[in-house]
Amino acid sequence: MEERFCPECGHVKEEWTLPFCHACYKQFRLEINQVKELLKKQPTLSVMDIARETGLSVRRLKQMLEFGSFQRPDY
Ligand SMILES: [Zn+2]
Repeated sequence: MEERFCPECGHVKEEWTLPFCHACYKQFRLEINQVKELLKKQPTLSVMDIARETGLSVRRLKQMLEFGSFQRPDY
């Protein structure tokens, strides 16, 4: 039952299979697309580089890696 709450905003998740509630997941998807676009252009970027380029936090990028949203060869 510990998976019931969205780790981002703390609200109850509508969909237990998603990592976040719908609102946070939508934002998460947008950020993932941003990262994917960047990696398409510059596939050798490290997580730190991605964080700097996108303005996203390293914590956020690690969340994405954790959920398998994008792949880094060095991870
Ligand atoms: Zn949320």
